[in-house]
Amino acid sequence: MKNISVIGGGTMGNGIAHVFAQFGFDVTLIDVQPAALEKALQTIANNLDRQVKKGALTEEDKAATLGRIRTTTSIAEGVALADLVVEAATENVGLKLKIFGEMDQAAPATAILATNTSSISITQIAAATKRPTQVIGMHFMNPVPVMKLVEVIRGYATSDAVTAQIMELSRQLEKVPVEVNDYPGFVANRILMPMINEAIYTLFEGVSGVEEIDTVMKLGMAHPMGPLQLADFIGLDVCLSILRVLHDGFGRPHYAPCPLLVNMVTAGKLGAKSGEGFYKYTPGSKELVVAYKR
Ligand code: NAD
Repeated sequence: MKNISVIGGGTMGNGIAHVFAQFGFDVTLIDVQPAALEKALQTIANNLDRQVKKGALTEEDKAATLGRIRTTTSIAEGVALADLVVEAATENVGLKLKIFGEMDQAAPATAILATNTSSISITQIAAATKRPTQVIGMHFMNPVPVMKLVEVIRGYATSDAVTAQIMELSRQLEKVPVEVNDYPGFVANRILMPMINEAIYTLFEGVSGVEEIDTVMKLGMAHPMGPLQLADFIGLDVCLSILRVLHDGFGRPHYAPCPLLVNMVTAGKLGAKSGEGFYKYTPGSKELVVAYKR
């Protein structure tokens, strides 16, 4: 594999482009919004600077990595030469089905079409294409350049050969791939999201405050970050859509999203990316200021 196309230049897409380019692949980053592409390139440059400061990369590595990334707003043009496409656009079923239909038409017949979806059925996404054996989940974790795990999700029709190729490719990126089957939430979010939802319910029902809940989980359970702060970093809109997939997929009431989460997303409080969620995020400051008051 040589040419990798990444669709969506947001939180995850810029990290995925960064890692592939760092390990020598030619990357085409595609987003419908030119501003998202500019921001993605800036974020990648900043994150590479951090790696240079830590001594993990040289200035030459940084320049070479940036030189391997090109951008476009056209999916058809951006996937035309791809060996692999990794889709990391907004978590929305209708949107992903449309994107997969479009890239199935435009990408070479041999290309593997992967999705970074957190929760949407790989089997359903694959059904929007004429090559379901070549469709697979490649679920990176945030922040992509730092986190080691890749959940490799086999849809109902994904072939053994394609699964093996994606497992091997993940190792080439110095990640640790774990193979899982295609059921709602896969493994990571099936376990994580009910915990985050329960933390939000604990706040909503007035059992305790934002910092208190996060402190209990950090100091009591040795989690590096509390569940409310983690939800802010994932994006509250992303958490809400994953919970809805779990709720619809399993039909169990305990996956129903907490009304406070629904209200916050409706109010545009999406977490770190919008500047406010359970905490406020001031550019340039690492201090956590509690934004949600009981
Ligand atoms: P995001 O909102 O930060 O970015 C999404 C990007 O997709 C935006 O820049 C948007 O302009 C772009 N986009 C929308 N429609 C498009 C289209 N038709 N063509 C091209 N680009 C389009 O979202 P994100 O947090 O990066 O999530 C992306 C995917 O990764 C989702 O499927 C999400 O579930 C998954 N994911 C997110 C996290 C996380 O922690 N945020 C972790 C793992 C997986």
